[in-house]
Amino acid sequence: MNKNNLELNKHVEQDAAVLLYGNAISGILITLLTSSFLVFAFDNPQTADFKTVWWPIMAAVLSLRFIDAMWWNFKEKNTDFDGKKAITRFIIGVNSTAIVWTTYLVYATTHSSGIELTTTVITVASMAGGAATILAAHKYTSMFYPVILLVPGAIGLLFSDIEALQLLGVLGLAFGFVMLATSKKSADFTRNALFLKNENAVLVHRMEEKVKQRTQKIYELSNLDPLTGLYNRTAFLDALKMMVSKPIEPFSLLFIDLDGFKKINDSIGHKAGDQILKKTANRLKAYTLESQLLCRWGGDEFIIVFTNTRQSSAIEKSKQLIEKLSEHHKIENSVLSVGATIGIALYPEHATTEDRLIQLADMAMYFQKKQMRSTVAVFSEQMEKLYSKELRLKNGLTKAIEQHQLRIVYQPIIRSEDNTIAAFEALLRWRNEDENIPPDEFIPIAEQYGLIHEIGAWVLNHACQQASQWGLGRNVAVCVNVSVIQFQNENFINVVENALLNSGLPAELLHLEITESVFAADFDSTSNLIKQLQRMGIKVSIDDFGTGYSSLSVLQDLAVNMVKIDRSFVAKMDSNGAAIVTAVINIADSFNFLVIAEGVETEKQTNALKKLGVQYLQGYFHSRPLEVENIPSYLQSGVSPSTTNLSHQVDQRGESIEIN
Ligand code: C2E
Ligand code: MG
Ligand code: MG
Repeated sequence: MNKNNLELNKHVEQDAAVLLYGNAISGILITLLTSSFLVFAFDNPQTADFKTVWWPIMAAVLSLRFIDAMWWNFKEKNTDFDGKKAITRFIIGVNSTAIVWTTYLVYATTHSSGIELTTTVITVASMAGGAATILAAHKYTSMFYPVILLVPGAIGLLFSDIEALQLLGVLGLAFGFVMLATSKKSADFTRNALFLKNENAVLVHRMEEKVKQRTQKIYELSNLDPLTGLYNRTAFLDALKMMVSKPIEPFSLLFIDLDGFKKINDSIGHKAGDQILKKTANRLKAYTLESQLLCRWGGDEFIIVFTNTRQSSAIEKSKQLIEKLSEHHKIENSVLSVGATIGIALYPEHATTEDRLIQLADMAMYFQKKQMRSTVAVFSEQMEKLYSKELRLKNGLTKAIEQHQLRIVYQPIIRSEDNTIAAFEALLRWRNEDENIPPDEFIPIAEQYGLIHEIGAWVLNHACQQASQWGLGRNVAVCVNVSVIQFQNENFINVVENALLNSGLPAELLHLEITESVFAADFDSTSNLIKQLQRMGIKVSIDDFGTGYSSLSVLQDLAVNMVKIDRSFVAKMDSNGAAIVTAVINIADSFNFLVIAEGVETEKQTNALKKLGVQYLQGYFHSRPLEVENIPSYLQSGVSPSTTNLSHQVDQRGESIEIN
């Protein structure tokens, strides 16, 4: 029998028990009344002894049944009781009553007569008649109850000497058998009705269960993040919206972003990434109270709302969280770790709507991540100003090429030995809505929003094109700055090849300037790319040397062509700058690369650098960056600070400089 049938049968048995016990008390009382009437109404010395024994037996059976009926009523009725057991108890009671009755009838047919006998027969017959409906919930009892009650007595009457009683016996037998058939029908009908009722009930119940399961599934699908089991964005937003819709105590919203997660995802695989996210979610769950909102906002971002929490304790909690989240994860056979940067927005100080709170906390996280990873910051208005400026610049940058807002200026690089021009460094300028934005401001934004690839390619193409025109036969190179992100792009080598091909510039006249940070990413692939570029004939220099880390070791391991000493050291030539320059020159000698000093602003610096043996000089002392159209005349005029036409020069923002 399958589970559903079992359940159906169980319900049918329970209902049958309810029907049977439902009539029990009235049945017992009627039986008590009729039996007492028969016993006490007729004064017959012949049956008196029998009755004094019989009546207490009947009373005892009825009392037991009464107790059982009461027990069922109070202990079982409203529970998930065992219907079968209850029915068994009930039919034992009923059948015992039937047997006690039949002994009475048999005795009466043989020991009483006249009115008493007739009354007894009629009474017992009507008891048997009533049973058909009252006992209909149990087929065999309802069928055989009248038989047990009537048949032995009726047979007794058949043996009577009186013809009328014999006739009564025949009638009794006939009645008994008619009752047998009627009760069967009535019982079958009742049984069917119970099955039908419960089949429907089970069906409805099953449907309800299914609907409940589906509803739960839909709830999970639409409200929970399948990977971590945390609230998803939609559910979290709904909950937070509810929260801020009525006046509440101040609270803090923490925007958490993992540090170094992408690296694990990319290098070790998404499976490990998923594990990290799950484990992070568990750590957050363990740290957060049931009543506090926690969600996976997306990717490796999570949000927690700490109710009743003000700034100082939010910062304290954030620090503890960062510590917790930064603990190692053991995943398969490796030990991995990520950090977390947290931004905090406070309700109601910073905002009172859910969207704005999240936006501000996100912003705080974003700025903090740029400053120092795995630390915490609270939102400030200054951040918002910077952010809107950043967005404005980013939007402007996306249209800068197409609206011809970009141009390149060129700053000469001079040979120390004879003051001749060795190269020009291409420096990008952007004029956006009448404002010159310095490259130090817009290049990081272009890098951050992925615009640097397009802009970088534009610079390479234009620089090569322009250099191919001014440099004809002069052996003057062009130096192009390349951002780390461009350098790591697989397509970069093609971009360089195309720029050379389209411009016709000899590869030897193209120098690429990269910063030390490219080596932090992946030393081997960087080193390979440099070799590949060099095989093409291109020269590679390290820009801003000394500002990054591991500088000297990088120099030892890399076969670059040139090193550009950062201008901060040149500016400190009087103090410890000279020592650095000397050290770089010594290494340069042994590793065979050339040295350029950037940011040379004075004659004194020029002389000192020349004395130390720096081969190339670049800086305002020799020339500021020049507009491209001024280069031919600049080249014509020869080179030395005194012969430079300073009116052609532009400053870092691209403005022409008037020098008297
Ligand atoms: P950088 O490559 O170190 O460029 C040298 C910077 O120093 C230039 O600033 C130049 O104008 C400035 N400079 C030159 N001589 C002197 C001097 O004597 N004194 C002082 N104080 N400064 C001097 P600029 O043009 O503002 O460029 C800033 C940075 O922006 C560049 O630093 C470079 O890293 C980046 N950049 C410029 N153009 C591009 C580009 O096309 N692509 C990429 N990726 N970065 C670029
Ligand atoms: Mg440079
Ligand atoms: Mg530099």
